[in-house]
Amino acid sequence: MNQNDLSIFNEHESEVRSYVRGFPTVFHEAKGYKLWDLDNKEYIDFFSGAGALNYGHNDDNMKKKLLEYIQEDGITHSLDMASKAKGEFLEKFHEVILKPRDLNYKVMFPGPTGTNTVESALKLARKVTGRTNVISFTNGFHGMTIGALSVTGNAFKRAGAGMPLQNAVTMPFDNYIQDTNQEIAYMERLIDDNGSGVDKPAAIILETVQGEGGLNAARMEWLKEVERVCRERDILLIIDDVQAGVGRTGTFFSFEPAGIKPDIVCLSKSIGGYGSPLALTLIHPDYDKFAPGEHNGTFRGNNMAFVTATEALNYWKDDQLEKSVQEKSKRIEEFLNKMIKKYPAMKGTHRGRGFMQGIASDVEDLSDKIAGKCFEHGLIMETAGPDDEVFKLFPPITIDDEGLDKGLAIIEKAIEEVVT
Ligand code: PMP
Repeated sequence: MNQNDLSIFNEHESEVRSYVRGFPTVFHEAKGYKLWDLDNKEYIDFFSGAGALNYGHNDDNMKKKLLEYIQEDGITHSLDMASKAKGEFLEKFHEVILKPRDLNYKVMFPGPTGTNTVESALKLARKVTGRTNVISFTNGFHGMTIGALSVTGNAFKRAGAGMPLQNAVTMPFDNYIQDTNQEIAYMERLIDDNGSGVDKPAAIILETVQGEGGLNAARMEWLKEVERVCRERDILLIIDDVQAGVGRTGTFFSFEPAGIKPDIVCLSKSIGGYGSPLALTLIHPDYDKFAPGEHNGTFRGNNMAFVTATEALNYWKDDQLEKSVQEKSKRIEEFLNKMIKKYPAMKGTHRGRGFMQGIASDVEDLSDKIAGKCFEHGLIMETAGPDDEVFKLFPPITIDDEGLDKGLAIIEKAIEEVVT
């Protein structure tokens, strides 16, 4: 395929295809924060493979390790057998990530995707507690299978299940209702009151920053309160860090600034480092209760992903990357607030934190139009929220100042063209 021609996709690929509609070109090459299509047009990446490419494209060190591994005929697929690549990953993950953060988890490989880790967490919480109900939140997103959809707060996605979704109750996320702090009181009352109709839950599942649901960032005090609600009632706290984790918010885990210790953590997307499918379910040892084989899957032993995931952990040996993400996050926030002031016609509100920030616009279709203009000018960026009302800045966390500046300049140009 040498022509930049979408007719092959239009003819042969299912109608469910979506990103090709927002980014209508044939991509070919990528490096760092840049991608090129078959016309050799360059794009700045403010999308990061929906969070699977936090370290950018084709990181030199990961590529080198992967090529060496393949060259040496390293085992590629091994279900959940012991392999050298897996052993090295487990050891380094413990040393570089868990130990310095005083976190104590057993690592489960639930299958290759974010949805797989969520499913395993829900099943495990139910098994451990003997309860079936789970509390999830407005605008939460946890995946596309029936179990994950049952805790996902999106009507369009839920309808896709084609059947009633059961055993989960939706509560208001932080700031969903105007009177802040009422969400927690409401939740406690519903859990504790025998007349509420809410069964005592096995678990509460949440994202600290809701990626798909519109970049709603929970306050740290709110997260602490949710942890307290769980601890006082023997409810398991599951943090879905599939999108907000692996450095996206400026710390490896998104919940670190809140000082909470979830019982189960879901990780996927960028944990493989190089865009390769890998997921982890981190389980407090007290709850490591699946019997051997009770939750399995063919693709739990993606050794090529273990190799790049292990190499990626070098980014976390010191605080350089964290500092850089935190500094650049401030710049992104300043930029967005400046845009909101400078272009009042946008009717914008700032959303999110870290490297997952954006603007929610009250003007219908405006965010989509801005993302479309950005694409024309050589930047890819998606929208989020139940009505796609948020345009979402999601660059690789390794982006340098030059890339960030170039990206922000394109976004300003796009806003200007769309609103004036
Ligand atoms: N949880 C969250 C928070 C997500 O953002 C996503 C994917 N966008 C998932 C779970 C599901 O992951 P996957 O698409 O890999 O199944």
